[in-house]
Amino acid sequence: MSDPKPLPYGRQLVDDDDVAEVVRVLRGDFLTQGPEVRRFEEALSEVTGARYAVAVANGTAALHLACLAAGVRDGDVGVVPSITFVASGNAVRYAGGTVAFADVDPDTALVSPASIEARVAELAAQGKRPKVIVPVDMTGAVADLARVREIASRVGALVIEDAAHSLGGARRLRVGGEERLVRAASCELADMAILSFHPVKHVTTGEGGAVTTNDEGLYRELCDLRTHGITKQGLEKSDGPWYYEQRVLGFNYRITDMQCALGRSQLGKLGRFVARRREIAARYDRAFAEHAARVRPLRVPAGSESAYHLYVVRVVPQGDEPLSSIAERRRALYDRLAEEKIFTQVHYIPVHRQPDFRRHGMGHEELPGADAYYASCLSLPMFPAMTDGDVDRVVDATLRALG
Ligand SMILES: *Cc1c(COP(=O)(O)O)cnc(C)c1O
Repeated sequence: MSDPKPLPYGRQLVDDDDVAEVVRVLRGDFLTQGPEVRRFEEALSEVTGARYAVAVANGTAALHLACLAAGVRDGDVGVVPSITFVASGNAVRYAGGTVAFADVDPDTALVSPASIEARVAELAAQGKRPKVIVPVDMTGAVADLARVREIASRVGALVIEDAAHSLGGARRLRVGGEERLVRAASCELADMAILSFHPVKHVTTGEGGAVTTNDEGLYRELCDLRTHGITKQGLEKSDGPWYYEQRVLGFNYRITDMQCALGRSQLGKLGRFVARRREIAARYDRAFAEHAARVRPLRVPAGSESAYHLYVVRVVPQGDEPLSSIAERRRALYDRLAEEKIFTQVHYIPVHRQPDFRRHGMGHEELPGADAYYASCLSLPMFPAMTDGDVDRVVDATLRALG
């Protein structure tokens, strides 16, 4: 048999028309701070439904700026689920805050509102309240933003939706009195949302990210913070046309015009990309349905239209099998698949277990949901260029490996 084609867990799909857009900008006048940034931001607003979008250097920069705009400062606390990329927690720390970790439902990998309540109650007992709550739309399913919004409103916290996985996704949720389909990063139930355009995400700019919001004040602040904290708007004093002021300590978190041209070209294909991801997920679901005693796909909450950044399966415990044994079988599955050039991944190691958080006094919560999820989860290949044959190959290898 000839060598099988390597299948990564995710990868970008860049076509000639995307390349042509980048080349067009390269031959033009502006490589950065030109018109493409604005055009990309307008396209992002349209796709998400949020009034404003601020495109930045990467998703982590977007999280950092969102935390700063939310007013996180030294000593403030952010509530973040333990199952996420480390950046969701690091952003709170960049702004001077500390992280209180919330647990997840191991069947969905989404943050447990009851666990957020528990963190809020613990903080209240110390006379504190969280400054921000950061729900994460793990794997592409929108978190229960309605419940998060409720809790946040009660304690005066801002909600930053980490929508790095969910661009193009939506979920039926209660907004005000009525239930409706809430798009990821629309900010209908969040103060701000962040996106990432890393190549494994739905659309790519190489490196890139954005913050969306419906709040004009937050929008202006995000724009200033992206460019050193410098502004030309609304100044009382002016020495001439060159005049600007640094009002706050900001950063150079700008994204280039080449990247934004690529991003806008890619966004035009988001509908197709997400539709293909859903087809792939449905094919996996059908194939695994009759093997639920051994392997189970992550549950997508009712009313969700997942964008399927990831397709996660969990190794099913046999009897009262301990987590360490499940984790060993998951490791064996990972190795067996890698031997067949199927390169899976684990998303994520619980952030509350990361040594750097522990060293700084964080992560001491008991989070059984996060631990159970981590022991059993594996992200199978999921990207729009996958063929049905690729999916069948992954299913076949997975079932063989599980015996
Ligand atoms: C990718 C990702 C980020 C950060 O994005 P970068 O663009 O890589 O900085 C943040 N949160 C989650 C959940 C992510 O998956």
